[in-house]
Amino acid sequence: MRQPTAYLISCGDELLFGHTIDTNSAWLAEQCTLLGWRILGHRTIGDVTPDIVSAFSEAASKADVVIVTGGLGPTEDDRTRNALAQAMGVGLREDPEAIKEIEARFRSFKRPMAAVNRIQAMIPEGAERIVNPNGTAPGIQGTLGSARVFCMPGVPKEMRAMFDQTIRPVLQGAPGTSATVMRRLHMCGRGESDIGHALTHLMGERSNPEVGTQVAESIITVRMYANGEDIVEATRVADSAEQEIRSVFGEDIFGVDGETLAMAVAKLLKERGAKLMTAESCTGGMVASMLVDVPGVSESFVEGIVAYANETKIRRLGVDARILAEHGAVSRETAAAMAETLLKRGEFPGPMYAVSTTGVAGPDGGTPEKPVGTVWIACSYLAPDGSGVTRTMLYSTLADRHGIRLRAANAALDLLRRTILGYASPSHEVRDDHWHKD
Ligand code: AMP
Ligand code: MG
Repeated sequence: MRQPTAYLISCGDELLFGHTIDTNSAWLAEQCTLLGWRILGHRTIGDVTPDIVSAFSEAASKADVVIVTGGLGPTEDDRTRNALAQAMGVGLREDPEAIKEIEARFRSFKRPMAAVNRIQAMIPEGAERIVNPNGTAPGIQGTLGSARVFCMPGVPKEMRAMFDQTIRPVLQGAPGTSATVMRRLHMCGRGESDIGHALTHLMGERSNPEVGTQVAESIITVRMYANGEDIVEATRVADSAEQEIRSVFGEDIFGVDGETLAMAVAKLLKERGAKLMTAESCTGGMVASMLVDVPGVSESFVEGIVAYANETKIRRLGVDARILAEHGAVSRETAAAMAETLLKRGEFPGPMYAVSTTGVAGPDGGTPEKPVGTVWIACSYLAPDGSGVTRTMLYSTLADRHGIRLRAANAALDLLRRTILGYASPSHEVRDDHWHKD
């Protein structure tokens, strides 16, 4: 049986001109996909009635369901209800139930209802209102040609509640839908092209699962949509693809779905009863901040120092001034010393880790030997018996200042993750140096 299809339309000049990001379509697309519907497309339309009318008609000629958000407010620039009436070739009528609901909502705010709000009770002849659990503007559902059209307010919170209450039950289990499982596997430390190349055989058009990759701030995500007769079958399809991907990139995968690098690191530290300290220069506390985002990390994360100036690296961390003079602030030696000095001062009995970053975040300050985007990262481990090891890595990337810092922070967390797990690092410029706490 043919898979049912949906088309998404977002209305509003603020979206068209780029002032507001269309998060509604992103959310709706994911919900519809997980309900087993195929999304044929998304469109953004300004507050111009003829444009909205033609977008409605075009979408209705292609898809089984058209889902519209925005343009249902009481103001002059909200044109969705008129456009739907025009596309349907009917007039507008006032819905008495809608009027009662809007009046009741204003009563609950203890505010008089303005005359313009009556507009929100107008719906096209032959269409029905959709109850808004979170606001005044009702939604509208109608039929356009052979398609069902659902119009919802643009405010994301109202839209989501309305979708969940009224539209989700309509889409769920529709004929031709299959159970869908979405799964994302996250990795750090490899190029997207390497990963894409190794997974080419899984990335056929419209295969099951549908597999694709995306990259954001050096984190590569392999996402898959697996279909099956039922959820058990869809899960089996996703599991088997995941297993195949893990057989190639097992050590690189740090998380699944909502799991972040910091969460993965926090979990590993907790399991080992280990403490962690950070000494950051160019990342300026980003590594510490990512860790602190994880609830319960206080068990492991004890201290983060932003050692930005050379004097701070010397005075606060105890880095030998000669190391800085000889090798410069952005060097393997300085990164190693930043992490090691923290551990050597550490007052904790169990295993301890320290991570440090020092680099050129730009836009100025690059040299031919150390161009903008050069970051040295160190991860030191001190065992309870006093033996230590420091892993240093050169990380380089091309990005703006914020991007360089964010990517370097991710690279530092991944270096720590691999060190804790005893994994090799995929980068060439990695070295392990052993030392002892005297
Ligand atoms: P409207 O229903 O057109 O009056 O939109 C109300 C508000 O919801 C707008 O001012 C936007 O801030 C927000 N909004 C509208 N459409 C979207 C969308 N597609 N994604 C995210 N926010 C939106
Ligand atoms: Mg609007």
